[in-house]
Amino acid sequence: MFPRPFDYARPDSVDEALAALAANPGARPLAGGQSLVPMMSLGLAAPDLLVDLARLPLAGSDGGGGTVRLGALTRHRELERSAELAAWAPLASEAARFIGNPRVRNRGTLGGSLSHADPASELGTVALAYGGRAVITGAGGERTVDFDEFFHGFFETAVGEGELLTAVELDVPGAGSGHGFHEVAGRADDFATAAASAVLTLDGSGAACADARLALAGVGDRPLRVEAGEAICRGAAIDAPLLDRLSAAVADAVSPEDDAFISADYRRRVAGACAARAVESAWARAREAA
Ligand SMILES: Cc1cc2nc3c(=O)[nH]c(=O)nc-3n(C[C@H](O)[C@H](O)[C@H](O)COP(=O)(O)OP(=O)(O)OC[C@H]3O[C@@H](n4cnc5c(N)ncnc54)[C@H](O)[C@@H]3O)c2cc1C
Repeated sequence: MFPRPFDYARPDSVDEALAALAANPGARPLAGGQSLVPMMSLGLAAPDLLVDLARLPLAGSDGGGGTVRLGALTRHRELERSAELAAWAPLASEAARFIGNPRVRNRGTLGGSLSHADPASELGTVALAYGGRAVITGAGGERTVDFDEFFHGFFETAVGEGELLTAVELDVPGAGSGHGFHEVAGRADDFATAAASAVLTLDGSGAACADARLALAGVGDRPLRVEAGEAICRGAAIDAPLLDRLSAAVADAVSPEDDAFISADYRRRVAGACAARAVESAWARAREAA
C-alpha cells in the first residue's frame, strides 16, 4: 500500500515543532521513521502533517554523577557504537545491538522507540531496568514522568497529544552494580520473542544482592517490570537454584497471548529463561566490579 497524501514540515526548534503540532490535530512527529513510515504504508497511520524532528537540537547526551541524560534523537546506532555512551549506560548499548537490523539502527531513535512503545521494545526494558525519567515538553513547558509510569498500554505512553519526548534520564548505578541483557528472537532481525534487562546492586559485603530491577519485553501489552523476579534476587546471593526459581516465577508472572507463530506457553518459558540469563550476567558483572 501507499501512504495517504500528507504535508511535511521541518522546523528548526522545539517551539516551532510544538506550534506545528498544536496547529494541526492530525499532525504526528517524525523521528527516524522506522515505525511510523511502515505504519503509514500499511494504512495503520494516516497523519495529515509530518513534523520532522531531524533539525531539533535533541541529539546530545551527558553522563556522570549517576544520571545519564540522552537526547530523544539519539540513534540506536549511537547507543550501539559510541564508546562514551557504552561507558555511561552499558545496558543501553548492549540492548541496542538487538534492535532490527543495521538499516533500522542507523535511522531509528531512542525517543521514537520509547514514544512508539512497542511491547517488544528492547529500549523500553532498558529504561525500566535502570529507572529514570522521560522528559516531555509541551505548550506548558517541560515535565518529567518516571519510567514506571511512562508505558500506559499497547503503543500508549504518557506523552500526550501535541507533546514531544525531548530527553531520557537514566539512573545508572555505580560501583558494586552490574547489568545483563538477554533476548530470544526467531531470526536475527526479528522483534524479540522475549527479552530481559536486569540491573543488580550488591550490598556492602559484596556477597548478596541489595537491589534488583528486572524488565521484560515481548510478553505483555507494554515493556514491563517483573517484581516477582526482583523480590527473589533481593537479599540473596545469585546461584543456580535461585536462577531456576527465578525463571519459573517469571514464567508464572507474565501473561503473553498466543499469536499466529508463537504460543503463549512458549513465550512464557522463553521469558523465564531470558530473565534468568540477564540476572546471571548482571550478578557476574556486579561481582567483578565490586
Ligand atoms: C524491519 C524493522 C525491524 C525492527 N525491529 C525492532 C526491534 O527488534 N526492536 C525494536 O524495539 N524496534 C524495532 N523496530 C522499530 C525501530 O526500533 C524504530 O526505530 C522505533 O520503534 C521508532 O523510532 P523512530 O525514531 O524510527 O520513530 P518514528 O518511526 O519516526 O516514530 C514512531 C512513533 O513515535 C512518535 N515519535 C517519534 N519521536 C517522538 C518524540 N521525540 N516525541 C513524541 N513522539 C515521537 C511518532 O509520531 C510515531 O508515532 C524495527 C523496525 C523495522 C522497520
